[in-house]
Amino acid sequence: EARGAGGNRYCFDTPAMNAAMLQRQALEHALRGALERGEFVLHYQPRVSLHDGAIVGMEALLRWQHPELGLVPPMEFIPLAEETGLIVPIGEWVLRAACRQIRGWLDDGIAVPPVAINLSARQFHSGHLDRMIAEALAAEGLDASRLELEITESTAMVDVDDAVATMQKLKALGVSLALDDFGTGYSSLACLKRFPLDYLKIDRAFVSDVTTDPGDAAICIATIQLAHSLRLKVIAEGVEDEFQMEYLRRRGCDELQGYYFSRPVAGEAIAAMLRGGVRMNRAAVAVGTPEP
Ligand code: C2E
Ligand code: MG
Ligand code: MG
Ligand code: MG
Repeated sequence: EARGAGGNRYCFDTPAMNAAMLQRQALEHALRGALERGEFVLHYQPRVSLHDGAIVGMEALLRWQHPELGLVPPMEFIPLAEETGLIVPIGEWVLRAACRQIRGWLDDGIAVPPVAINLSARQFHSGHLDRMIAEALAAEGLDASRLELEITESTAMVDVDDAVATMQKLKALGVSLALDDFGTGYSSLACLKRFPLDYLKIDRAFVSDVTTDPGDAAICIATIQLAHSLRLKVIAEGVEDEFQMEYLRRRGCDELQGYYFSRPVAGEAIAAMLRGGVRMNRAAVAVGTPEP
């Protein structure tokens, strides 16, 4: 970026810089057409209760099915989409697609748990998010309890007063709210207390080494206690093995999400899981009373 080059705005003549700029432009161009070409898809990752092993929710995660690049993960295009404002129509597509999918599952007679979607900062602070969500739910005849919204800690902190007001409107609709990537931003506890949340999601960064890194373990334990004191449920994301699961279970974590149970998968694969009334056996066998 030009500002990175010591404030010299005419410093674009290195080959690396040109390549980066071209790539960026190409990416932006491709991203602009992706919606019309129907190249976005949602994958779904189940979330499992540590109390009974049941699938209690799932998270819709956006992928870009690019004709040449293949399945592009969100971190490779969402920052640019956010910067260019393209995230607004893309985010609306995500919302509509998730509602359409829930409706499809219900029509197929599938017992479907709530679906969580991720909101970008621009969407969240747009001032009419509640209306957009109410319309999307109404279009598919869905009750608001079918939907959960994930807002990252840093998104909420952009403007705390606005965040509180928006969250209150969303809660009034009847959707559940989760604070995502908790621990990676810098919420003050005073702000956290004001947010009308239902869930805290512990970021994967603290979960991956929870059994080996005492610092990460301390953060997970403190987060679980903090959440419970505020009467929120805690979800740990990025659980990849039984040791992490067991550790978090003993510490009283409520719900888990991670490759250990399932990667994010296409809608049909989730339908098969739900149709079978699958309990995630790996959690079911470990169900027990948390240690004090
Ligand atoms: P997130 O909301 O924190 O989602 C969790 C990410 O962790 C997902 O990555 C998921 O695939 C990954 N994950 C889950 N379990 C494991 C595990 O056990 N191990 C590892 N290594 N990873 C795991 P993904 O799908 O690449 O999404 C990355 C981020 O992109 C999301 O983080 C979210 O911030 C953003 N994102 C995804 N979909 C959307 C969307 O529709 N709208 C917006 N605004 N952001 C989205
Ligand atoms: Mg999320
Ligand atoms: Mg997260
Ligand atoms: Mg994350």
